[in-house]
Amino acid sequence: MTVMPADAPRAQLIHIETDRRLGHEWDEWDGKPLPGNGDFSSPPGLFFRLAALTLAVGLGAIGALIFLLAPRLAAVLPALPALLWGALAVAAGAGALWFALLLLSFYGGVLLLPEGLLERGPYLHVMSLTSYLSRLLGRRDWAEHAAIDVYNALAERRRRTVGKGELLVLIPRCLSKQALDGVLAIAGRYEVPVFVATRGQLARRVIRERRPRAVVAVACERDMTTGLRDVAGKLPVLGLTMRLPNGPCRDAMVDLDVMERWVRSWVSQSAS
Ligand code: SF4
Repeated sequence: MTVMPADAPRAQLIHIETDRRLGHEWDEWDGKPLPGNGDFSSPPGLFFRLAALTLAVGLGAIGALIFLLAPRLAAVLPALPALLWGALAVAAGAGALWFALLLLSFYGGVLLLPEGLLERGPYLHVMSLTSYLSRLLGRRDWAEHAAIDVYNALAERRRRTVGKGELLVLIPRCLSKQALDGVLAIAGRYEVPVFVATRGQLARRVIRERRPRAVVAVACERDMTTGLRDVAGKLPVLGLTMRLPNGPCRDAMVDLDVMERWVRSWVSQSAS
């Protein structure tokens, strides 16, 4: 029998994670632990700063394009460059006014625009564009988290209620057992159906087929940003983001208190 000395080098145990299927949003994940243990909580101010930068960069890019193309445009129609500069100035003014109303609605506590002109309208596009810019700056998940928090705060203040059968809870496949049990317990208490949507496309199909009047969705920041962009304009949604202590797409944790508060507030009228 061969006895190995205690300090002999051992073969490294390679843990092949067969139960983790990465969503395509995480394709480029390098396998290292996520920053902050997968908790991307950030203050709303981060989103507002990046959103203002995004709008400024967008307007600047359009201005640069008009400037460069002005000689050719003038050859087509001499008044065209001036018209385009005027349109850009109007767009910049409208954008600045909208942004000021967004800030006042969020920090002032009084919603100054209807939802179609705020969180279920232009906000969804600004949120998406800001996500692209924040990727370039390496702040994607934090910026998206802050943007989703702002969206939820605005949507929650609408104080909407729906019937029990009209609310749907959509969860991803990556919840930890503890989180899943908690979600199912809440759904059971309020008699709300729960669907596991393994991909964004399937989530949209469930919504199309079940035709709910409101949705509480759970997902990581990346999936939630695209999901809100595609769905929230058509249907009221509250989006609960997760913590990813074991990396993306596995064992995700959620704040069950927030989920219960949302479900209760939406079905409270029909429950009373
Ligand atoms: S919701 Fe979960 S499974 Fe889907 S991409 Fe995000 S971490 Fe992965």
